[in-house]
Amino acid sequence: MKKDIHPEIKDCKVTCACGNTFTCKSTKEEINVEICSECHPFYTGKQSKSTRAGRVDKFNKKYGFDQKEAA
Ligand SMILES: [Zn+2]
Repeated sequence: MKKDIHPEIKDCKVTCACGNTFTCKSTKEEINVEICSECHPFYTGKQSKSTRAGRVDKFNKKYGFDQKEAA
């Protein structure tokens, strides 16, 4: 390994828009994210209201699909 070309790795504080914070390793000291494993529907298994009333909603209304819970 060459010396002095590798960026310094620090403990990075990640702050999510949902209020969750956690640490990881990064070259930055702080990162702000909009979604994390605590609030992403894929991990939580439930959809938030903000994602529900999105483009899919409009599409379904436009073509007359039923808006009741699919699951
Ligand atoms: Zn989050």
